[in-house]
Amino acid sequence: ALAPSRLDVRADFPGLPEGWSYLDTAATAQKPQAVIDAIADAYGPRYATVHRGVYARSADMTIAYEAARKRVADFLGGAADEIVFVRGGTEAINLVANSWGNGHVGAGDRILLSTLEHHSNIVPWQLLAERVGAEIDVLPLTEDGQIDLDAIAAMLTERHKLVALAHVSNVLGSTLDAKRAADLAHGVGAKLLLDGCQAVPRMAVDVAAIDCDFYAFSGHKLYGPTGIGALWARGDILAEMPPWEGGGSMIDKVSFAGTTYAPPPQRFEAGTPHIAGALGLHAAIDYVAALGLDVIHAHEAALVSETRDALSQLNSVRLFGPEDSAGIVSFALEGVHPHDIGTILDEEGVAIRAGHHCAQPLMAHLGVEATARASFGIYNTSDDVAALVRGIERVSRIFG
Ligand code: PMP
Repeated sequence: ALAPSRLDVRADFPGLPEGWSYLDTAATAQKPQAVIDAIADAYGPRYATVHRGVYARSADMTIAYEAARKRVADFLGGAADEIVFVRGGTEAINLVANSWGNGHVGAGDRILLSTLEHHSNIVPWQLLAERVGAEIDVLPLTEDGQIDLDAIAAMLTERHKLVALAHVSNVLGSTLDAKRAADLAHGVGAKLLLDGCQAVPRMAVDVAAIDCDFYAFSGHKLYGPTGIGALWARGDILAEMPPWEGGGSMIDKVSFAGTTYAPPPQRFEAGTPHIAGALGLHAAIDYVAALGLDVIHAHEAALVSETRDALSQLNSVRLFGPEDSAGIVSFALEGVHPHDIGTILDEEGVAIRAGHHCAQPLMAHLGVEATARASFGIYNTSDDVAALVRGIERVSRIFG
């Protein structure tokens, strides 16, 4: 049996009033006071621009901004100059598709995705494929909703330049065997990009141990601010990637005769960056690291297991995804639209997400329009599970 949940941090979160069960952390996480304070500080007594100022305040802010980059690098197991600050996971993937993709994926080449990808790990590759005349292949899922890596061997060819997969599914909570995916991709000379948006908030990630090539995540799902995230890319790959957005800060020398570019990561950060976002993200990583990613993982696993056990007792509930789904439980109730489930649960003080979760191909695969999704974070407890189950029992009674 799993250890009982051990985290007791709810008091750190001003966004969580007594009696409200927030079960939508996979969409975006609530913020601990430490993150809110870091942002207020960044816009208050510490505020100045970075990289340009000759005065002390700006020099200090530059040091803080670069310290945030180093913190992200340490968190992922990479080097600071391999971290590009972006708006979020979506922008990280678009950066790779545009910069690396334009140069390395050509006519007749292939890109391998999976059935469960978020739209942000589908559409940028479709846009790339259209631009260059490449093709997309789609990995199937196992019965219980995991990416079927056994199928990769039969599908991968020398024409595949990239495999791009979710480390953790935002709908099913399925966790990829990332190391195996990397080995398989590299076996045919393809690169592996991992969409880590749902992984970094709930498990320790080490890009060196995984041996992937690109890793993308969003700060706001990791208890940090919106509008900031990171792309990690292996140093040798990043070094030869061309810029994708032009502007200030990303150049070496500009003239009308021709412009040269700064080395990475600056080459990929045109314009004034999200300074306060980076400092807020630094605080968020400090916060979760102090709790311990292994503790967080065990805490969420216990809550998922409680939820799945309780919901599987109810006849009308269909559970999606694997038994050991990471922090996320998707479900449906026979004859009830997920939006109605969400609305009734809201009346009960339980916030879940209902919809296609930006994963329409997965919905088609599951044969549903939408699912209801409860997703957990570090502040949830068994009380939230109990409130969810009570609410679903009420939904069942209403719809008889
Ligand atoms: N990938 C996954 C698996 C996600 O869950 C999300 C957010 N729902 C994204 C990508 C996109 O993240 P963002 O909207 O923060 O860019």
